[in-house]
Amino acid sequence: MIAQMNNKSIRMLIFKLLRYSGLPFLFREVIQKQHVTILLFHAIPLESADTAFKYLMKHYTIIGLNDFFNSCREKKPLPEKSLIITFDDGHRSNYDLLPLFKRYAIPVTIFLCSGIIDTNRHFWFSITHPDYSTEQLKKVPNREKLNILKEIGFEPEINYSHPQALSKDQIREMSPFVNFQSHTVFHPCLPYCDDDEARQEISMSKKMLEQEYSFMINAIAYPNGDYTERDIQFCIDAGYEFGLTVDYGFNTPSTDPFKLRRISVNDTGNMDELIVKSSGVWGFLKTNVLKIANIFGVV
Ligand SMILES: [Zn+2]
Repeated sequence: MIAQMNNKSIRMLIFKLLRYSGLPFLFREVIQKQHVTILLFHAIPLESADTAFKYLMKHYTIIGLNDFFNSCREKKPLPEKSLIITFDDGHRSNYDLLPLFKRYAIPVTIFLCSGIIDTNRHFWFSITHPDYSTEQLKKVPNREKLNILKEIGFEPEINYSHPQALSKDQIREMSPFVNFQSHTVFHPCLPYCDDDEARQEISMSKKMLEQEYSFMINAIAYPNGDYTERDIQFCIDAGYEFGLTVDYGFNTPSTDPFKLRRISVNDTGNMDELIVKSSGVWGFLKTNVLKIANIFGVV
């Protein structure tokens, strides 16, 4: 029977088994109870987001990123099972979620690429290259990567026929309900930038968002979750107080403020996957135990 199942079905079956294994409950009631969980979404569709938010509100205490920051500064305790919802990139479809943010009064944070919002520029990682995968390009020095992409007609400052990121009007309309923070200017993988590029990407994005939108920018989410100690120093120099990674784990007010851990939740509408991933069980298994991906070759 297993032989007849495709990879997706096997994956869904694994999530179902894990959901009912009791592990998500155990993680929630033992680990997450005493820690702050930060979830990462990107462009979850409205219907899936509605399902996800309802579940998260029922099982966790949703707090804002700034509530956590205040608790870090003042070393104040937070409610049990505190959970923060973040979105990376500032995808155009995030605007569709505004009615949910309002209806549920969920204090979300969206990390914006300041050079892409309010333009028809595209994210470099949305371009399909015939010879290189996106994962390969993430590991090429940034200037070289841009040259490779230029050969197939992509440049960061080209305006295409349609936007990929939020517009200024949308951001303004969302800003009473959403905390906006920095995700660099053009979303390079910082460790693959030279010093000047990394410094510029980190500091310019903060300046642009503060000057053009009057936001208080105190946090940066490292593109692709990649950072080095050099990049952290540039963030400190630029005046950031916090940096968010995609390193697996949970947080307390004592966690290194520039290495805050996040749990990546696929933009899924599948409850089994959502429950398993938001509890941290999936990240734990991937990080610590079997390297499930290699064994099953399905994830
Ligand atoms: Zn990103």
